[in-house]
Amino acid sequence: MSFHAPLTNHHADGTLCPADHKHTTSGKPLHADCPGRSYTQAVCSCGGWEMKQRGKGYVNECRKRHLAGHAQGPNVLRDLLRLDAA
Ligand SMILES: [Zn+2]
Ligand SMILES: [Zn+2]
Repeated sequence: MSFHAPLTNHHADGTLCPADHKHTTSGKPLHADCPGRSYTQAVCSCGGWEMKQRGKGYVNECRKRHLAGHAQGPNVLRDLLRLDAA
């Protein structure tokens, strides 16, 4: 079974900031209807994981790490955790 956890961008009021809302590299909105991107969210289809953070790169990192855990299966993940703790 494979899971996915798409990244979505949101405005401060929680509404979706779609891909056609372009922003400058410093994050200023270039779309008339866009109040600005406030946070990035990722929700995994496993239903057991989600996160919401300002930093898009950070959410993406955590998302990949979470999905890697699914790909490797619970046994491998448990081994990894044990190594981390050592
Ligand atoms: Zn927007
Ligand atoms: Zn998951």
